[in-house]
Amino acid sequence: MQNILNYINGEFLEPQSQEWLDNYEPSSGKVYSKIPNSDERDIALAVKAAENAFPNWSKTTIEERSSILQRISESILENLEILVIAEAKDNGKPESLARAVDIPRAASNFKFFSQAITQFSTNAHESVGLNAVNYTLRKPLGVVGCISPWNLPLYLFTWKIAPALVSGNCVVAKPSEVTPMTAYLLSNICHNAGLPKGVLNIVHGLGTTTGQAIIEHPNVKAISFTGGTATGEHIARTAAPMFKKLSLELGGKNPNLIFADCDYDRMLETTVRSSFANQGQICLCGSRIFVEASIYDKFKTDFVNKVSQLNVGHPSSKDTNVGALVSKPHLEKVFSYIEKAETYGGKILTGGNKVTVKGYEDGYYLEPTVIEVSSNDCKLNQEEIFGPVVTLMPFKTEEEALQLANGVRYGLAATIWTNNLNRTMRLSSEIEAGIVWVNTWMMRDLRTPFGGMKDSGVGREGGFEALRFFTCLLYTSPSPRDLS
Ligand code: NAD
Repeated sequence: MQNILNYINGEFLEPQSQEWLDNYEPSSGKVYSKIPNSDERDIALAVKAAENAFPNWSKTTIEERSSILQRISESILENLEILVIAEAKDNGKPESLARAVDIPRAASNFKFFSQAITQFSTNAHESVGLNAVNYTLRKPLGVVGCISPWNLPLYLFTWKIAPALVSGNCVVAKPSEVTPMTAYLLSNICHNAGLPKGVLNIVHGLGTTTGQAIIEHPNVKAISFTGGTATGEHIARTAAPMFKKLSLELGGKNPNLIFADCDYDRMLETTVRSSFANQGQICLCGSRIFVEASIYDKFKTDFVNKVSQLNVGHPSSKDTNVGALVSKPHLEKVFSYIEKAETYGGKILTGGNKVTVKGYEDGYYLEPTVIEVSSNDCKLNQEEIFGPVVTLMPFKTEEEALQLANGVRYGLAATIWTNNLNRTMRLSSEIEAGIVWVNTWMMRDLRTPFGGMKDSGVGREGGFEALRFFTCLLYTSPSPRDLS
C-alpha cells in the first residue's frame, strides 16, 4: 500500500508521530493508501524551512519565479493522465470531469499567475506643488498557510499556492485529508521543476491537528482557507487575535432563478450540469432552483426526466455522469437530508436512493435527487447539503424571486435565466452573492475576483486580488530634497 509523504524543506518525510491515516477510494469504499497523521512538530519543521527559504525566495527576480511556475504548469500537463486518474480515484469524481476541468485548471492556475505577476504594479502619487512623490510597494508577507477542501482537490490547492509563491512568499500548505493524493503528486512536480527547498511545504493530516497547528503558528502571517463555514468561523476566531491576514472562501446555498422568457433548452441543459456536476459537490452548484410559475410544471417534468437519465457509475467508465460521493460520512450526511425530506416539507420527485454499482458494491453512490419544497425556510433550502440534491419551488414575481434568492445566510453565487436585459441588470445588483451568472454557469475568467458575501466568506481571491492578498502594501516618500 502506498504511503503519502510530507514534503518539507525539499525532502519527502514521514510524520514525526509515525502515525498514519487511512485514505479511502470512494468508488470502491476500500482503503488504498496511507496519509501522514502530522502534528504540530511537522508544522514547526515546515514553518522553519519556509522561514529559512524566505530571504532568498523573496529576492528572486519576477522572471525567475515566473519561469518556475511556468515549468510547474507544463509539468502538470505532461502528467495530465496520471493526475486525472489519481484525482478520480481519490475523490470519486468521473475521470472525464477531472480531464476536462480539474487538472487543466490546476495547470492554468500556475500559468495564469506566472503571467499575472509580470503585470502587477504599484502606484506613485505625485504631491503637486510640493515637489514630492509618495509611492507604494508591495512586499510578500513571509510564511503563509494555504488550506483547501476535498471537492476540487488540485484545482483549489493550486489556486492558492500559485499566487502565494509567485508573489514571493514561502508556503505551508495542507490539502484535505480526504483527498491528499494529487497534492502529494504536486510536491514531486514542484520538486522536479526546481522550486528551491523550503519554498513550498506540503503537510498532510487532519484539520483539527495539522490544520490547527498551521492556523495557531505565530509565524504564519496569513491564511488562505477554502472550506466549510463552521471551519472558517473557527479559523477566524483563532487567527484574529494574532492579526493574521485572512481570506475565507466558505459554503454556499446558491439560487438558480429561471424566468419564463429564457432560452429554455440551453437553460435546461445547463441546469442539469449546475445541479449535479461533481456529484453536486461544487460550492458554486445551484442547489435551490426557483422557477417562474407559468413554466414551473413544464420545467418540473423536463428536468426530472433529464435527471433520471443521468448515469451513476464508476469514475473510470465513459458513460458515468455522476460518480461516487467523496466519503462514507459525507454520503451519510447527504442521505440524512433525503431521509428526512418529507419531515422538512419536501416531496422527492426523482432519486433519493443509494446506488449499488456492480463490482464496486461498497462505493459511496447516490442517485441525483430532486425535491420539491413549498417554503424557502425549510432545512432543505437553508442548510448546505453539498451533494447531488436540489430543491424546486415556483415563484410568481421578480420581487418574490429576489426575496427567495436572498433569503438564506449564504451569498456565494447565483444564476439568472432570462432574456430581459433590464431584469438582468436589476437582479444582478440586488442579489446578495459574490458571483452572478446570467444565462450561463461556471464561466470564469481567471482575472475576475472570486469570493462570497454574508456567511460565504470574507475577502476575494483570483486575478490581482490574490496577489494583493499575498502581499502587504507599504508606502514610502523620498523627501523632495532627495529628488532635486
Ligand atoms: P472543511 O471545512 O471540513 O475542511 C476544509 C479544510 O480545512 C480541510 O483541509 C480540513 O482538514 C481543514 N480544517 C478542518 N478543521 C480545521 C482547523 N481547525 N484548522 C485548520 N484547518 C482545518 O471543508 P470540506 O468538507 O473539506 O469542504 C467542503 C466545504 O468547502 C463546503 O462547505 C463547500 O461549500 C466549501 N467550499 C467553498 C468554496 C469557495 O470557494 N467558497 C470552494 C470549495 C468548497
